[in-house]
Amino acid sequence: MSDSMTTGSAAGSLTRVVDCDLCGKPTKMTATKRCDRCWELERRVQDDPDIARKVLIEVSGQQRAYVLAVIDKMRGVIEAVYRRWDEGDEADAPELGAAILEAMKL
Ligand SMILES: [Zn+2]
Repeated sequence: MSDSMTTGSAAGSLTRVVDCDLCGKPTKMTATKRCDRCWELERRVQDDPDIARKVLIEVSGQQRAYVLAVIDKMRGVIEAVYRRWDEGDEADAPELGAAILEAMKL
């Protein structure tokens, strides 16, 4: 995608848009190159970096725990499918896909 583009409005005026430097979402904030969400988050992090660091560590831990739980659950699903295959029962792909999606719903 180009770094900058121009879009027209219904009124016929042109608005310059750039991609947010942080998330890539188009934004009209050409000077800061931050969309509203990233600008707000960046300001809050700058206001309190020590707490922001603690939040990131906690969120990372939660994400890691979620991923490990999904992997553990998927391992159970896959082992069950292998057992069925060993017993001559053919679990089909959609059934396996549905079971994996269900495992991700923790
Ligand atoms: Zn952004």
